Amino acid sequence: MTKEIIDYLSELIALPSISAFNTNRSFSIQTANKISEKLRLIGAEVKIVDNVIPGKNPIILAKLGDDPTKKTILFYSHYDVQPAAKEDGWDYDPFDLKELDGYVYGRGVSDDKGPLVATYFAVKELIDEGKLNVNVCFVYEGEEESSSGGFEDTLEMHKDFYNDIDGIMILDTSWFGEETPSMDYGFRGVTYMGIQIQGPNKDQHSGLVGGVIREPMEDLIYLMSKLKQFDGKVLINGFYDKVLPLTDEEKELYSNIEFDLEEFKKYLGRNTLLSEDTTTMLMNNWRNPTLSLHGIQGAFSEDGSKTVVPGKVIGKVSMRLVPNQDPKEIAQLFIDHITNEFNKINSPNKLDILTIGTGDWWYGDVNNFLFSAGKEAINEYWQIEPAFTRSGGSIPIIPFMEKLFDAPAMGLGIGQSTDGAHSQNERLRIKNLIGGKEVIKKILSKL
Ligand SMILES: [Zn+2]
Repeated sequence: MTKEIIDYLSELIALPSISAFNTNRSFSIQTANKISEKLRLIGAEVKIVDNVIPGKNPIILAKLGDDPTKKTILFYSHYDVQPAAKEDGWDYDPFDLKELDGYVYGRGVSDDKGPLVATYFAVKELIDEGKLNVNVCFVYEGEEESSSGGFEDTLEMHKDFYNDIDGIMILDTSWFGEETPSMDYGFRGVTYMGIQIQGPNKDQHSGLVGGVIREPMEDLIYLMSKLKQFDGKVLINGFYDKVLPLTDEEKELYSNIEFDLEEFKKYLGRNTLLSEDTTTMLMNNWRNPTLSLHGIQGAFSEDGSKTVVPGKVIGKVSMRLVPNQDPKEIAQLFIDHITNEFNKINSPNKLDILTIGTGDWWYGDVNNFLFSAGKEAINEYWQIEPAFTRSGGSIPIIPFMEKLFDAPAMGLGIGQSTDGAHSQNERLRIKNLIGGKEVIKKILSKL
């Protein structure tokens, strides 16, 4: 059986469905076709629908069973992958699956073709054993590694393909550690802003305008310095007002996290962190909001000593947000704060504040039926208490699907934290591939 699973994974790995490269489009289409064929073999009704954004990869919709007395579970994964090439430093051809010492290697084995294959065989085996007691749906996108371009609008357009969905399982994460299976219950949201300062109508020479004008960069640096303290505290008025207070129950979830702070420091090349306490550090990354300064568009940034005075500069800033901050409301607080600070400095330059993008946070209910079934299934199969984990990153399509289908989501990790999902020699432990399949079978059996 393991051979059949690895064979299917190997067929998918052989297709470099890299969404970042337009030139790989035909491989992505072939991948979508192959997955669809397989799903049809187990009796699913499958539709490959065009992405609403021209040139973007299609989305696979599939469903199996329509018994209204049973629960309906939707599985989400993606069939596209990150770029990879042997020259990047891989020990093997990234698109020719290699099996070695209990691991499989190849681009996409862990992110996200392995989890997709584990799901497929979990459902297939339940059918073969006559034990599939739920309706199962699938949504597989081909643009996840390119910010899920077009996903939301395309899915919304085809929402009626699915019957009522009761729960959504996200198969696109790994365990937080090496030996502790984990389930994800949260991601942060994001608000990305630009502070634009327009001075002279074009770039100037400091030999000509130095000492003559108020330079746009001075204003921008001043404004960017008014956003955050060195201890991490964000200075925007009202920024923390809606952050959910920590409950004892939530705090308890942090007691079972497998995490080596010293290893992490080594990985970062840092001797000190803002907090040296693991729980506090994880909370600051997962359940507290933050702000980061990313760059200045229009500023001189190459080597050398060019004496330009940029005419227009845009400072790029993002904020990672948590329940119950509203990303659009936070954008407005940011605008108010910067406008207020700008008014204090009596500048002849022109200020414009741009909202570049927003994305919702996701906060799952660890007590709902999906997490309960997941916890039991992991305990039974792995004989280990699962970890409930969050992430400091953002996956806005999860809250989007929860709203669209009015159903809760749960993330089920398959691989390990060291799989190297976007890196060289991406790998997946075969034990995790098989274990993932078994856990999915158990979860579905419990619903
Ligand atoms: Zn992924």
